Amino acid sequence: MKKKLSNKITFFVLGILVIVISFMVLFTYHTFKNFYKGQLSIEVIEELATFTKLLEEGIDESLVSRLIIEKDTQRDIYILYFNENFNLIFSSHQLEAEKLKNYQKWVAMQVDDGGEQVHYVDTGMDFHIPHVWAYQSVERNGVIEGYFFIDRDTGDFEKAKQQLAILLLSMGLFTLLIGVLLTIYLTKVISKPLITIGKTTREIAKGDFDIQLSISTDDEVGQLAEDIREMTKQLKEFRDSKREFISHISHDLRTPVTYIKGYSAIMRDLPEINEADLRRNLDVIYNESKRIESLVTDLFQLTKLEEGRIVLEKELTDITLWIESIIASRQLMLDHQSITCHVTASSENIKASIDPQRLGQAVINLIENSIRYTPKNGLINIRIREESGRVIIEIEDNGIGIPKEELPKIWQRFYRVDKARSRDRAGSGLGLAIVKEIVELHGGQVNVKSTEGEGTVFSLSL
Ligand code: ATP
Ligand code: MG
Repeated sequence: MKKKLSNKITFFVLGILVIVISFMVLFTYHTFKNFYKGQLSIEVIEELATFTKLLEEGIDESLVSRLIIEKDTQRDIYILYFNENFNLIFSSHQLEAEKLKNYQKWVAMQVDDGGEQVHYVDTGMDFHIPHVWAYQSVERNGVIEGYFFIDRDTGDFEKAKQQLAILLLSMGLFTLLIGVLLTIYLTKVISKPLITIGKTTREIAKGDFDIQLSISTDDEVGQLAEDIREMTKQLKEFRDSKREFISHISHDLRTPVTYIKGYSAIMRDLPEINEADLRRNLDVIYNESKRIESLVTDLFQLTKLEEGRIVLEKELTDITLWIESIIASRQLMLDHQSITCHVTASSENIKASIDPQRLGQAVINLIENSIRYTPKNGLINIRIREESGRVIIEIEDNGIGIPKEELPKIWQRFYRVDKARSRDRAGSGLGLAIVKEIVELHGGQVNVKSTEGEGTVFSLSL
């Protein structure tokens, strides 16, 4: 089983989300924790400073002690005042001797070491939560008179810390959940059309070109579907034209082969045959063999042209001389049909770089068409001229012409306008397809104008 795209994306996003959210939660937690802690230290120091100031300004000790006792016995904050020898002067609460000794020892140690003013004390006594301890010396006229000490539990701070942790954790989990659900949904949305496309292309690969791909979104997936539809259309056209091609070839080959077979069988089976019959039969066999030969030659040439396997051997050619030599090679055919052929050139020395052999084949095909589709005593005019850097060759006849609606189709392989009107099972319909291929290989164009019953003009532009 292949790994699913949706699973891959989901796991990837899940991993990233977990990392990012954990980092954010930890970072926020630490920032807030430090902020609260700092806040607590400030409060403690300020409280100590207030009382220190009172004493330093000369307010009576007993007054200050009353103030402290009134204020702090309700709270869970212990405030003690020691003299310069660390003996207790007054305290906000009644204290056990043990606790008092601990406090005294701590203040004395801090003063001796010059240690920090505020401390977080986590062990040493039976506190269930950390406490903040701090001290402050009271000086008058540069002489130390005593020390204030404070012991405050961090209950509020701890509670806030816990609530913060719970809040951040649940927010993180919630974000993660939403992220995962969203990713699963999105990957489903993305992968669903891809699955459909995959299924359809497998059907297409099996040869079902009629299957419909019903995806038409205006994004990359939609574009992919459109490309596949276009590809299927072309594959279908290709398959159909291949089938048609083969059926045409078999049809066009079968007729002459039937003739050859029939006539040779007659001659084989006759006990004797007279000279004239023999000649006539052999004539038929010879002509039909020639048809097969020319069909096979045309097919071979067309296939090579369509596959682009032909390399042109171009040379600078005098077009008028070249056309005249082609006509000379077809003079017998022209005479046979009593057709006159004129060549006119707009100027002398019209030259073009062409492959005279290949392009000659195209011109021969056009001239043979004119001869074939023009009645006896007809006229063929060939005009050569130059026009804005291009050489134009027009081949005009006054033959039977081509109906307007047939004009676009005559370039197709095997296409013949009216099979019945072509005299004596004339061509196979490959001639013009070859002309088009050769001219386009030369970078030129071939066009046709025709009026039924009046004549036809083919023009080559090179
Ligand atoms: P092939 O040339 O392969 O022996 P073909 O002449 O029938 O056979 P094309 O040369 O491809 O085939 O021509 C296609 C069709 O176009 C012809 O069958 C004919 O009906 C029509 N056509 C071509 N040239 C002319 C023309 N000069 N006058 C009238 N019809 C023409
Ligand atoms: Mg032809």
